[in-house]
Amino acid sequence: MKIYEKAPAKINLLLDVLRKREDGFHEVEMIMTMVDLADRLEMEELPRDTIIISSQAGYIPLDEKNLAFQAAKLIKDRYDVRKGVYIHLDKKIPVAAGLAGGSSDAAAALRGLNRLWQLNIPEEELCRLGAELGSDVPFCVTGGTALATGRGEKLEQIENPPGCWVVLAKPPINVSTADVYGKLRANEITSHPQAKDMLSAIRHGDFHAICDGLGNVLEKVTLELYPEVLQLKESMQRLGADGVLMSGSGPTVFGLVSKEAKLARIYNGLRGFCKEVYVVRLLT
Ligand code: ATP
Repeated sequence: MKIYEKAPAKINLLLDVLRKREDGFHEVEMIMTMVDLADRLEMEELPRDTIIISSQAGYIPLDEKNLAFQAAKLIKDRYDVRKGVYIHLDKKIPVAAGLAGGSSDAAAALRGLNRLWQLNIPEEELCRLGAELGSDVPFCVTGGTALATGRGEKLEQIENPPGCWVVLAKPPINVSTADVYGKLRANEITSHPQAKDMLSAIRHGDFHAICDGLGNVLEKVTLELYPEVLQLKESMQRLGADGVLMSGSGPTVFGLVSKEAKLARIYNGLRGFCKEVYVVRLLT
């Protein structure tokens, strides 16, 4: 039997870091939602006790470093599954982009293997397993829109923001999340985005208040390291996006756009100097 599972990309409407914890992780407050740019996982049971990963994307690991492999291994070990699986990753989400592509693949593997092997693992338990693989994985298991606290694994589902267009632009650099967090001085952050204002904007379906409330404290670090990300932000603003922010630790910048009529100008303006531009919708 073959099954398919979609793994959508996430964007952070808000990313705040409250402090660095003694265990080395950062205490964060994030509001995350999904967009309809997605990888697709094809999963097929193998009679042999093995995990095989393939992908058309030549630049991701296909061994035990792949997060989908790790998800399969975790579920096999924890539930004593003696069968194997072949997972093909049809990658559409750019890699190391701040869009949680690897985390979403891991989450899709957990959801998919739960179905394939009829394990009936409740979603909460899948989230707990996901947290062992990475801080963004639990959110990718549930999807939707959520406020994430702790190191990102404590989730409170909230309603989805009103539908809009999302323009994603990724400059040709790979940013390491660990590197950005490593350079962040959590106690020196002077301006924190206000999660309660963003939550209220989402609750009221107020698109302009959502655009005004966008904020990400990691921007300062990444923008200083990579001036091209700042250039991209400024261009998107100039071209007329309603709200613009870097996602996660970057380098992808997203613009929220309410009017379809604006899209061609923004897309063409960005494509003049940035090869990877996507026009998608929020998943609502
Ligand atoms: P985040 O926003 O969660 O920090 P990201 O979008 O910045 O994630 P990913 O695309 O998840 O980054 O890739 C981060 C690293 O993980 C890459 O260097 C890549 O080699 C590795 N990786 C492992 N598994 C995968 C996967 N299934 N897809 C993409 N990258 C993977």
